[in-house]
Amino acid sequence: MSSLHELDTPTFRLAVAQFDQAAELMGLDSNLRERLKLPQRSLVVSVPIRMDDGRVEVFTGYRVQHDSSRGPSKGGIRYHSEVNLGEVAALAMWMTWKCALADLPYGGAKGGVAVAPKALSRSELQRLTRRYASEIFPLVGPDKDVPAPDVGTDSQVMAWIMDTYSQQVGYAVPGVVTGKPLSIGGSLGREEATGRGVVCVTVEALRHLKIDLGETTVAIQGFGNVGSHTARIMHESGAKVVAVSDVSGGIYNTRGLDIPKLLTMYKSGGQTLAETKLGDPLTNAELLQLKCTVLIPAALSEQITKHNASQLNCRVLAEGANGPTTLEADCIVQDKGIFVIPDILANSGGVIVSYFEWVQDAQRFFWKATDIQDRLRDLMTSAFQRTLQFATAKGTSMRMAALMTGIDKVAQAHLSRGLYP
Ligand code: GLU
Repeated sequence: MSSLHELDTPTFRLAVAQFDQAAELMGLDSNLRERLKLPQRSLVVSVPIRMDDGRVEVFTGYRVQHDSSRGPSKGGIRYHSEVNLGEVAALAMWMTWKCALADLPYGGAKGGVAVAPKALSRSELQRLTRRYASEIFPLVGPDKDVPAPDVGTDSQVMAWIMDTYSQQVGYAVPGVVTGKPLSIGGSLGREEATGRGVVCVTVEALRHLKIDLGETTVAIQGFGNVGSHTARIMHESGAKVVAVSDVSGGIYNTRGLDIPKLLTMYKSGGQTLAETKLGDPLTNAELLQLKCTVLIPAALSEQITKHNASQLNCRVLAEGANGPTTLEADCIVQDKGIFVIPDILANSGGVIVSYFEWVQDAQRFFWKATDIQDRLRDLMTSAFQRTLQFATAKGTSMRMAALMTGIDKVAQAHLSRGLYP
């Protein structure tokens, strides 16, 4: 375990335990092991903002850069009431392996503010974002560290960060964040990218397992950016989405949910999933145990635990969320013969299109939607095939294959650069 007790949280312990397992299997140099267990830099900031009623409230924000040996660090910003340093550090570490696995010239980072964003008004949210952005200003920049959306943040939050940064330097810097609106240098296809990527690798896994997409049933936990786009694209691809859920619970329909109708009703606001009456209600716990071909956790971490893993009833587990499966659960899932597409592979579509956005911003030259989709499919398919071949050749799980591939690329970069001074 790390020597920094502030990091000692369940999510950080999970990330380090996964890293230790992979490092052990690959016989990673012990000096590097010590370094890569801990973040390179962690910043904790106070974010005081004036609330609409005149009071000042102080929130705590974080930005953690796990590693920057292969390029600028990259990773989202999460607004959630339970955000803490350990969680952000774990997510930053996963970003390092994710970027390396996808062959992106980035290190890993993550940020967050411990806040319930839905409890804030739009102007409070804007003040929070701008103050947080100026507190982390010394760390970020297009060649240093590039934030993006994550749980609880979106393109509008990125626009405010881009503007705050640009105001400080005196000119427009689109490349300081990705996941921006198109009007300020965002990329086509970025919003749906994580969902499209999840579908892409799931289709590859089904092909490998010789399962017909038309006979595939899908259950998705989480109906935010990742879950809702995954549901839509799965449906468009011909799979039957039988269940979806959000924090309020979920709905299921064994004949398949009417996803286009559900999206229209849900997005127009005001209604919970159950209130749309497009399916029978079910709880989040029930959704995870539903009989289906593909289960996609697309919400928060540590949802599949030793308590519910043995009840999973799927053939493929595609991890749209970061860290949805605990270490104990992972063993149970493997023993059950479920084909796992690990998070750092399954949800890498988001950061891959973030990379495309950053490249387009740097070149001041923007690509067509079809170029984005083709290149995303290309990168994700080859990352999936490489991971599968590695797992088959070395007799490891898909998770270990993905982690070992990512960690090895980072280790090579450290060894090439040497230790400073
Ligand atoms: N938040 C996303 C993730 O966890 C995207 C990060 C990015 O685009 O930089 O992968």
